[in-house]
Amino acid sequence: MKSSTDACSPVICAVIVCAGKGERSGLPYNKVLHHIGHKTVLEMTLDAFRQTKIGHITVVTSEADFSAIRDITAAYDDISVVIGGATRSLSVQAGLNAHACDIVLIHDGARPYVTPDIIDRAIDSAILYGSGIAAVPAVDTVKRVQPDGVAHSLPRAQLYNAQTPQAFRYAEIMDAYTGANGTFTDDAEVYENAGYSPRLVDGSYDNIKVTTPNDFIVIPKSCRIGVGFDVHRLTESRKLILGGVTIDYELGLLGHSDADVLTHAIMDALLSAANLPDIGVLFPDNDDKYLGISSITLLKEVLRHVESGGLKIGNISAVIIAQKPKLAPVIMDIRSSLACALGIDVTQINISATTTEKLGIIGEGNAIAASASCILTENTNGQH
Ligand code: MG
Repeated sequence: MKSSTDACSPVICAVIVCAGKGERSGLPYNKVLHHIGHKTVLEMTLDAFRQTKIGHITVVTSEADFSAIRDITAAYDDISVVIGGATRSLSVQAGLNAHACDIVLIHDGARPYVTPDIIDRAIDSAILYGSGIAAVPAVDTVKRVQPDGVAHSLPRAQLYNAQTPQAFRYAEIMDAYTGANGTFTDDAEVYENAGYSPRLVDGSYDNIKVTTPNDFIVIPKSCRIGVGFDVHRLTESRKLILGGVTIDYELGLLGHSDADVLTHAIMDALLSAANLPDIGVLFPDNDDKYLGISSITLLKEVLRHVESGGLKIGNISAVIIAQKPKLAPVIMDIRSSLACALGIDVTQINISATTTEKLGIIGEGNAIAASASCILTENTNGQH
C-alpha cells in the first residue's frame, strides 16, 4: 500500500464492507472468512487494494466476526476494523465515519476477484469527475415486470450491472448519506438520489460477488498438471532423507545425490507440468557436481526453471510408498520442509504414506518409492 507523500495528492481510503451474514453461501460462518486456495476471501480482497495508492482501509464487520476479522487484518499496516450496523447502508456509514479522506472507495468484502486495475480506474474517475463506479455491460436481457405479470423489455445496450468498488469524493458521498432516506441497493444509488451523477468505469465479469458455494470454485485460466515417480534401494551406511528431512532409521536410500526419493518425484512432477526435461536430464547421475548433493538444493533449481517459464505452484500431492519406517509422525515436518524450500504455504502440499502389504521389493523392506502430482498455474502478477 503506497501512502501519498505529495501534499497536492488526494488522500485516498477504502471502506470494505463485510458485515453481511451471507446465508446463501451455505457456510456456517461469514463467507469472507472462507479460504479459496490458501487465502481467505477477505485476504484476497485486501491484497488487491494494497497494490494501489490507497492509504488506509477500514473493514466493517459484525460484532460476531469482529475478532476473527481483526486477527486477519492484524498482519496488515494501516487497516482498521469497525463494527457496522443492521443494514448495509448503516455499515457503510460506520466505515465512512471512521476515517476521513479526499476520495473513498466502497467495496464488498465478498468480491475477492477485484483487480488493482479496476480499483485504479475507479480512483482516477473519482478524482476527475467525482465518482467512479465499476460496472459491466448487461449480458442478459432485463425485463421490467408489472404486478399482473406482464413484462416490458429494457434496451440492453443502455444497461450495465453495477459492481464495487464504487469511488466517490468523500465530502459528496458523506453529504449524500446524510440526506439519505429510503432503501438503496448500492452507494451509487444513494449518491444519485442526492442529486449527484455517478459515472461508470470498466469493471470485469470476473469481479463477482461470491454468493453461492459454486462461486468459491476457482478454475485458473491456465493450469498444467504434472506427474513424477521414483524409487531408490535401501542400504546400510546411508541416511534416510525424505522431503529434506532426515529420518531416524537403520537404513538409508542409495543414490548419486542424497537419494531423497520423495523430492525427486516432486521435481519430476514440476518439470513435467512445466513441459521441461526430467531430473535425469537436468542433473545427470554421472556428473560429479551432483555427487551427494542435497535434493532440496536441486528442488530450488527446479523451482527457478518453473518460475522462469511464467508458472507458479497451485498444489502438490505426493505419496511415499514404504514398508518401514512408520512415517506418520514425520509427515508434517516433511510438508513444512518442502513448503519452505518452494516458498509456498504448507496447505499447498500434501503428503501421504502407504505400504505395499509386504509385497515386492518395497514390501520386503529393500526400497522406498514415491509418486507425486502437481498443478502449475500461470503466474499473472509476476509474484510467486
Ligand atoms: Mg531418484
